[in-house]
Amino acid sequence: MSSATPVERSGAPTAWHARPVEGVLDELDASADGLSSEEADRRLEEYGPNAIRGENDVSPFEIFVSQFQDVLIYLLVLAAVLSLAVGLLPGEDANVVDAALILVILFANGVFGFVQDYRAERSMQRLRELSSPAATVLRDGEKREIDATAVVPGDVVVLEQGDAVPADARLVDVTNLETAEAALTGESANVEKDAAPVDDGTPLAERRNMVYMNTNAVKGRARAVVVGTGMDTEVGAIATQMQAAEDGDTPFQGEVDELGRRIGIGVIGLISLVVLVQFLFTATDAISILLTAITLAVAAVPEGLPAVVTLTLALGSQKMVERNALVRRLPVVESLGSIDTILTDKTGTLTESQMTVQRVAFGDDVFDVTGAGLETDGEFQRDGEAVDPAMLEPVLRCGALCNNAEPAPDTEDREYFGDPTEVALLVSARKAGVEQAAERVREVPFSSDRKRMTVVVEATDSRVGAADTVEATDSRAGDGDDAYTAYMKGAPGTVLDRCDRVLVDGEERALTDADRDRVLERTESFASDALRVIGFARKRVTDPDADEDALEDDMVFLGLQGMLDPPRDEVPQAVADCRDAGIRVVMATGDNVETAKAIGAQVGFDPTGAMTGPEVEKLTDAELQDAVEEVEVFARVAPEHKVRILEALQANGHRVAMTGDGVNDAPGVRNADVGIAMGERGTDVTKEASDMILQDDNFATIRDAIAEGRGIFDNIRKFVNYLLSANAGEVLVVFVGVLVGSALYPSLFAGNTEALVLTPVMLLWINLVTDGFPALALGTDPKADDIMDRAPRGEDDPVIDRRMLLSIATIGAIMTVTGLALFFYALDVTRDLVVAQTLLFTLLVTIEMVRIHLIRSRYDLSPLSNPWLVAAVALSLALQLAVLYTPLREFFSVIAPTLEHWTWIGGAFIAFVALAVATETLVERTLAA
Ligand code: ADP
Ligand code: MG
Repeated sequence: MSSATPVERSGAPTAWHARPVEGVLDELDASADGLSSEEADRRLEEYGPNAIRGENDVSPFEIFVSQFQDVLIYLLVLAAVLSLAVGLLPGEDANVVDAALILVILFANGVFGFVQDYRAERSMQRLRELSSPAATVLRDGEKREIDATAVVPGDVVVLEQGDAVPADARLVDVTNLETAEAALTGESANVEKDAAPVDDGTPLAERRNMVYMNTNAVKGRARAVVVGTGMDTEVGAIATQMQAAEDGDTPFQGEVDELGRRIGIGVIGLISLVVLVQFLFTATDAISILLTAITLAVAAVPEGLPAVVTLTLALGSQKMVERNALVRRLPVVESLGSIDTILTDKTGTLTESQMTVQRVAFGDDVFDVTGAGLETDGEFQRDGEAVDPAMLEPVLRCGALCNNAEPAPDTEDREYFGDPTEVALLVSARKAGVEQAAERVREVPFSSDRKRMTVVVEATDSRVGAADTVEATDSRAGDGDDAYTAYMKGAPGTVLDRCDRVLVDGEERALTDADRDRVLERTESFASDALRVIGFARKRVTDPDADEDALEDDMVFLGLQGMLDPPRDEVPQAVADCRDAGIRVVMATGDNVETAKAIGAQVGFDPTGAMTGPEVEKLTDAELQDAVEEVEVFARVAPEHKVRILEALQANGHRVAMTGDGVNDAPGVRNADVGIAMGERGTDVTKEASDMILQDDNFATIRDAIAEGRGIFDNIRKFVNYLLSANAGEVLVVFVGVLVGSALYPSLFAGNTEALVLTPVMLLWINLVTDGFPALALGTDPKADDIMDRAPRGEDDPVIDRRMLLSIATIGAIMTVTGLALFFYALDVTRDLVVAQTLLFTLLVTIEMVRIHLIRSRYDLSPLSNPWLVAAVALSLALQLAVLYTPLREFFSVIAPTLEHWTWIGGAFIAFVALAVATETLVERTLAA
């Protein structure tokens, strides 16, 4: 692997990692405060977008050309040319009209194929663009979230736990940053980073002061100045396309491809037989035989199927995006239809994630907090009486300082950046006039495993003002050596475990078992009112660099704040809908068990038997496998518990969709059958591991996506059924027609050089009007009304199940019987082959049009429910009439049917519909029995 930095490659050696930060900033003409927007725009112009150039971008022209790159098409063109060449022989007529028409129809078919492929490619492109990550940079001195592609050299990027590193960059300042670099170096352990220069010759994997594109920050935070973007990054240098489209073929596409191959082989076998019979028993000339054979192959081999499956999937995912579900891999659209269990978060997914502190426990008392949402005026009340908020200051100050949220600029503090839990704490502090001001020197970050967060701040700020500051109350506070205060917040139990003292009435004393019980009791009582409860603690610190465990121990417990996070309005209905659809919904939350049960009950979960993470830990795999079948609410779970729950469900044969947001959720999200990341709350790491991103974090969106997925599956089935039965019908009609014809009408058949049931041109035309507009329109068919009332599709349910095979076979047979009855009746009465051919030709086109609706009726869709389809059918029928009743007739060698002819067609048509409906019902009954 090359370890050259971009500038080295261009000749001027700049080992960014070996130089001090100032030197790097100078060299890049940048500052630690970031670039101005104008300068950034200029550099974007100069260096180009920050993207790895893909090799798999195909041009429309290539797509168009690929439509004709098919052996069958080559053969057909060859045959057409041959039939032209025949004209050169003395005494033979060139089949100019036929040959030209074949080419024209082929071209039209190619155009349809192109439209399908091109649309599919475009929607895939759009999806890829949508899922491209964002980056936080400093521009004009302010934090700004921009598209990662707009990052330029010299930009200062802000990295936080869970962010993807958008470009190669030199670290400027670092707080506990660790990155996962496996994607670049293959090294699976996380790498600790700092900003100090390292030796010039340090290999890539050990340059601790650099971060690289395609790696992730998994812990801590940092600022870094970008030294290389796009192809000028280490990833860019490794020519391999790291983010190459992972979408290979989806299972359906594989299945359909395989099927196409088999049908191809079968069809060629049949055609060989047709050729043999014609050759032996009729006087048809060799060229006509060849042309029919190849045309039949073109018509019958469903080479358009894979393209349409892709198109349907792509269009479906487009529809999902409109409903806020961004599909990152096409196969997911299929998997969604077979999901039978959803393992979901609570906070933000089932709830609004709009939190407001409603209660505070401090000292001996519990206080109610008034004021809704982010409103900062509100009061603190005890027993309904307003109190002076200053008396709550320690616990409120702890909430404000141990906090990474901040007011959004230019919103007059009506909006905030950051974790909703922390925003709520900021707002409650502001209600008491407590501000965020303090110099922070260290942070031990929050994670779902630790369930707590600690900061160390310079104590100077708390020295001023109120009497109950740390200074005045901490008995261990010395003579000014303790220049720092550590503030901790987290899940109450976790925080209590780290405390040995408690603050009561401004006095600090030892924390007794009775104190602990009281805190836990209060926590429970807050939680059973559906409040999310956070505990607070602090202590004086002399050495801010002490190791983590020592720093986070021997704390003074301050109190609790309970915040309400109301369930989203649409969630109870969505949960009920999923149940109706045979999908179990299971909650797994890091929150308190009482809170989880209370919220769960509000949105329709059964909270009885709720389990906690520690309880899950005690179970064996087998016990857990039993438990997950019963329990609907899991609380206090860490990400590794979630993974175990997921595995237990999967071991029981369930197909599970799982949601996740934090870094540690990534493994679970990756292993779930459908891994779902949160668009708003989710980290880049989890998003990258996911199959689907919920742009609005909303549970109801999962339901919508599943409904869409099921609808898409239906549409693919409809289409496959339609196309295959049409093809089967055509081949059978020609095959049986030739056999019967040679037996029944040897004179007519044997004496005619074009003794075919259908001419090549007719076959191609049928293929065009069926595969063309109606097929395109089927891809946009609406979902069945009952789509969320049926059970999920079984995992191994193929697209083409027994029922479909049976229906394809029977419909093919009925088409053959009614079609040939019409053909030979007409032949018998008129003794005119062209009349018989025309009528059969017309019958088949009309049958195809009604056949679509027969298939759709099974999904309870009325013939008029898809306007595109109505238009497509009308257009196909109009084109057929044009062929029959305009001068086009000459080209197609057909006659204009008379009224009498139409009554014959009508008779055969009615017979077809009656027989088709009857057998379908029969098939249905047989399979149901
Ligand atoms: P969830 O989001 O499912 O409620 P988390 O794993 O995010 O669960 O949080 C687990 C617990 O950690 C919460 O119930 C809360 O007590 C605590 N907690 C959540 N966010 C923070 C934070 N920013 N700082 C400290 N503690 C937190
Ligand atoms: Mg959370």
